[in-house]
Amino acid sequence: MRIKTLFIFSIFLHSSFLMSSANFGIAVHGGAGVMKNLSEDQKDKIEDKISKTLIEAFKILEQGGSSIDAVEFAVAELEDSPLFNAGRGSVYNSDEIQEMDASIMNGNDRSAGAVASIKKIKNPIKLARKVSELTEHVMLVGEGAEKFAMDAGLEIVDESYFYSEKNLKRLRKAKQKTASNTIVHDRIGTVGAVALDKNGNIAAGTSTGGMTNKMPGRVGDSPIIGSGTWAQNNVCGVSSTGHGEYFIKYQVAKEVCTRIEYLGKNLKESSETILMELEEIEAYGGLIAIDKDANVAAPFNTDGMIRGSITNKEELNVRIY
Ligand code: ASP
Repeated sequence: MRIKTLFIFSIFLHSSFLMSSANFGIAVHGGAGVMKNLSEDQKDKIEDKISKTLIEAFKILEQGGSSIDAVEFAVAELEDSPLFNAGRGSVYNSDEIQEMDASIMNGNDRSAGAVASIKKIKNPIKLARKVSELTEHVMLVGEGAEKFAMDAGLEIVDESYFYSEKNLKRLRKAKQKTASNTIVHDRIGTVGAVALDKNGNIAAGTSTGGMTNKMPGRVGDSPIIGSGTWAQNNVCGVSSTGHGEYFIKYQVAKEVCTRIEYLGKNLKESSETILMELEEIEAYGGLIAIDKDANVAAPFNTDGMIRGSITNKEELNVRIY
């Protein structure tokens, strides 16, 4: 009897040691693109927002919270900031309307939710999670998605909440320069997060206003599971940013994990080679990724990508170039 008790106690000690020694961490991005002209003030504000968001999201993981909660929290924080092209700071389509896309995925059971072409939901990432958890579907778009958001009790805002003179000017300037319906590679970026929690669950999420001067109704890669967002326990989690049409055609987010799973590549090799291959066909962008051991990769083939990470192994690291 005493031996049995001792045995159970030692298993308990061993498993609690394993739990406390488990790796965990989070990475976020604020878009890839032409960052050369950012002023010092803009850089400071961006770095500050990314740092604060990471620190708060990391606390969720440290306290034993789930990766999906940390991802939702981080993406929603960035959506609330006018500094990024998602939620409040979304860019305009060619009709001077902001249409937003977002997705989230839980690598634990591959549950996923996505929304596209929505106009008045304060936090598209929260709606994507509700789609995942409360419906039998993966993606809802437009008015149907907005009606569901009301039923789900999410915050609806007036379209004026998203108004941005800067983004309107950006659109009008783009229209003068380009033939109509030519999308623009924005300097401000889509946002995303990937996380691994202490239980080994990986999650990923992405949110965007898309590309300036896009056609009304155009949907990019951000809400497409496998392109903009992918999470698979024991392999990796990815959130992409860049020229969405290519990221859809090359299934970038899933491809990073597929090469790890089937080719035995590590996270760095897998994600960097994909970005190099995209560059060869003039497809520009970047991604953030985390693997089952809390290694983080953040390759890009543009002149900058707003990014940062913090894990139990590596302290806070925030960069633009
Ligand atoms: N990937 C986004 C889209 O194509 C844009 C971006 O990441 O900058 O909608």
